[in-house]
Amino acid sequence: MIVATSNAALDEYVSSFPRGCAFVPTMGALHEGHGTLVRLGAGLARDRGLTAGCIVSIFVNPTQFDDKSDFERYPQTLDADLARCREAGAACVYAPAVQDIYPPGGIAPLPQLPQVATRPQLEDAFRPGHFAGVCQVVARLFELTQPAVAVFGEKDWQQLQVVRAMVAMMGTKSRGTNAPLDIIGVPTVREDDGLAMSSRNRFLSTAERKTALIISRALHEGRKGRTSHEAQTVMKWTLAKAGVMPDYAVVREAETLEYHKNVIPGTTYRALITARVGPVRLLDNAPWSPCAE
Ligand code: AMP
Repeated sequence: MIVATSNAALDEYVSSFPRGCAFVPTMGALHEGHGTLVRLGAGLARDRGLTAGCIVSIFVNPTQFDDKSDFERYPQTLDADLARCREAGAACVYAPAVQDIYPPGGIAPLPQLPQVATRPQLEDAFRPGHFAGVCQVVARLFELTQPAVAVFGEKDWQQLQVVRAMVAMMGTKSRGTNAPLDIIGVPTVREDDGLAMSSRNRFLSTAERKTALIISRALHEGRKGRTSHEAQTVMKWTLAKAGVMPDYAVVREAETLEYHKNVIPGTTYRALITARVGPVRLLDNAPWSPCAE
């Protein structure tokens, strides 16, 4: 496995493989959820004959943090991350410095954000500027790694939809082809008790870790709703009983994240919850369909 810590080293690697790679962007502090993405990326590269294999980026992107202290305390575990990437079959890890991603002259901002990034009451309402930062860094990482396919987690459901919409909006192509860059979503990897794995879970105390379980339970309870409104009420009630006040607990159309007062038959929906437990803001989501009874 190659470790590229400069753009020159990455360029040298990327330019030797004209068919491109499978790309997995991360912020490090890797856990088994990331490991699953990397294994899938390595498998996709093999199956599609992408001889560059899977490139994993490890970069804590300052422009997507609205909370300075969250950025400053973001865990950095590079040695363990490299071991996990190696074990999961990565061919190359790109671990750049800030100036590799944001050179002194700056990089062009995205002309506009896709609509799915700014839906009312979701991430943009609580983390203004977050998706502008995500789109900026993901577009830049695509430019540097030139992937044929990129892998993202469903754990960050809105982010996955934003990246898909951005690729469509910008006409980003899969390396060496005229086809749109393929974005693969990977189901959320959970602890045995249902908690969605996250790099920030390490900041939870034992008691907070127990309380945090209510989020995946509330998503499960939401399945009892016959309408989005009922599901939202059940989810909020379940959370409130455990003393958890969510930023949001909603059901939205899965791809556009639009709110539908009445369920439209044949449409795919997603339940999404974000709530602060102790020092950590936790995100989780699950497929949702109206309860038949
Ligand atoms: P992060 O390092 O948190 O920015 O995450 C990097 C990628 O890993 C993103 O595409 C996340 O959605 C994905 N990811 C994080 N946690 C999980 C998880 N528990 N299951 C699946 N994918 C995940």
